[in-house]
Amino acid sequence: MPCYRCGRVQTDPVRGASPWARGVVEGEQVLICPECQRDHPAWTEELTACPRCGNTRLSIVMGSVVCRACGHDWPARAAE
Ligand SMILES: [Zn+2]
Ligand SMILES: [Zn+2]
Repeated sequence: MPCYRCGRVQTDPVRGASPWARGVVEGEQVLICPECQRDHPAWTEELTACPRCGNTRLSIVMGSVVCRACGHDWPARAAE
């Protein structure tokens, strides 16, 4: 999966230690590369935030968005 801002492809998917950030934008799982995180300090403002705790570290699992901070989950496509 490429960076959703610049389209750069993740070269070495190191488990656990990857500097690439995950997030959710409009119901889609996205990745943000380290360069875009650094060059766009407000990058987290573009991401969907957990309605319970406000965290943007979200994953999509089986059609649901799951907050990795508090465990809250909700349908990825609730608005449709
Ligand atoms: Zn990027
Ligand atoms: Zn949360």
